[in-house]
Amino acid sequence: MEAKSAAKKSKNSSPGAITSSNAFYYSVLESIEDYAVFTTDKDGLVNSWNTGAEHLLGYSEKEIMNQNCAILFTDADVETSQHIHELQSALKRGSAIDERFHVHKNGSRFWGSGKVFPLYDNHKQHIGFTKIMRNLTDRQRAEERLQKARHYAESIVESAVEPIIMLNEDLTINTMNKAFFDHYNIKKKKVFDTPFAALANGGFNTPEFKALLKELKSGPGYVYSKELTHEFKQRGKRILIINGRKLHPDVNMSLLMLSVQDITEQRALEQQKDDFISIASHEIRTPLTVIKATAQLLYHRFHTLENGAVGKSAAKIDEKADKLLTLIHYLLDASQIARGELMMKPELFSITDLVIESIDEMMLINPGLTIISKGKIKNKVWGDRFRISQVLNNLLNNAVKYSPRDKDIIVSVTKNKNGGNLIVSVQDFGIGIPKQEQKNLFKRFWRASTARQKDISGIGLGLHISSQIIEKHNGKLWFISDKNKGSTFKFSIPLKAVSI
Ligand code: ADP
Repeated sequence: MEAKSAAKKSKNSSPGAITSSNAFYYSVLESIEDYAVFTTDKDGLVNSWNTGAEHLLGYSEKEIMNQNCAILFTDADVETSQHIHELQSALKRGSAIDERFHVHKNGSRFWGSGKVFPLYDNHKQHIGFTKIMRNLTDRQRAEERLQKARHYAESIVESAVEPIIMLNEDLTINTMNKAFFDHYNIKKKKVFDTPFAALANGGFNTPEFKALLKELKSGPGYVYSKELTHEFKQRGKRILIINGRKLHPDVNMSLLMLSVQDITEQRALEQQKDDFISIASHEIRTPLTVIKATAQLLYHRFHTLENGAVGKSAAKIDEKADKLLTLIHYLLDASQIARGELMMKPELFSITDLVIESIDEMMLINPGLTIISKGKIKNKVWGDRFRISQVLNNLLNNAVKYSPRDKDIIVSVTKNKNGGNLIVSVQDFGIGIPKQEQKNLFKRFWRASTARQKDISGIGLGLHISSQIIEKHNGKLWFISDKNKGSTFKFSIPLKAVSI
């Protein structure tokens, strides 16, 4: 409805209706289409109705005029006279909240929120009421959804096996889950709003924890898998893994969420497993070396005899003993890495010579294989020649194992752009590694599904060891790979002699 027609209509309207002198205000009310604004007389009969009311409640001004506003209420509310109570309350208190389900002309319900005010004439005589209302159904639904989502998130946190604690910004405790209570033996449940520093007899009040919380609060807002070894008064020395995040559940509020996982027992088990692997490998290596030496002896004595069966068997034993020894060395290396004891014995050597040597060896044991060698560099490298050859052999061996025999393998030796690093790359055109699995490639004992499905033998240690060796040389090992297209593994190490 336009302001002009509103002004025209209001000339004939009853007391309390908006008069022509109020045309300006009326035009303002008409323009706020998101709000229903209407007036009633003292008995609740509608006597003016803006466009917003038409949108929200479905009735045109003509249809609703002189109707009792009760038709906008639900039957249940009319039965309990809510429409009358609301007006009486507005009259008594100067205003009344009008927040309830309302009924649209088409019978549908919506959640309307607004206020009712009494209207007075110039002589302060009560002449009726005005109502201002808005459809808040969407907001109410959004709030319900938010409530459900909050409840869902809370139940996940509550039932999580990791001990989780939420801190307020002033580092007092907001909440903690059952696992936290149980694991850190926190008895009294009245810990909320008390300082985190006082928790567990001050067990968490350490410089490391303080630094971590500072990082979380004013740093990037997250802490990822931070390991702390911590001496608790009652529980002794514990190894903790901490993940933290700064959350903003509200615009004016932030919380610090900490998951404090105790991995002491898990570490001890891993240690036991590593110790076992290390002891068993040492124990197996000695007799295996003897078996190998004896097989070689037998071979030399018998391979020239006419019936070469003994010689052939001895050679077979030697070959298999070699395979077993390689495996044992892998296991020993892996446990040395776990204990941080993998040592390098650096020397100055020619990388180009080493690459050629490794390629020749690989072609010798794999007849029919083509390895194309590209580029060479004159510089000598400061590093552990034996360990770098181990990396090269691992990459070459994998390239052979994980690609069809008729596909070439390309090995190149180059320098990076500024000439400071040597880069060796081994490219194959084989089965590749699925993208979603690539992040795991350097984990120990990890093997890709492509390798397992094709039943290609391996134990998933070579790349783990190689990456550690390259890291020890202050270098980097990386790869690009596409399933069924192939892989390129590269490593770079500084050419300048650095201590390793
Ligand atoms: P292994 O080959 O003994 O299993 P590695 O540590 O050398 O152990 O390699 C780990 C895994 O990475 C392999 O099992 C395989 O799934 C994958 N992989 C390594 N190199 C390649 C390659 N060139 N092509 C395809 N997959 C590879």
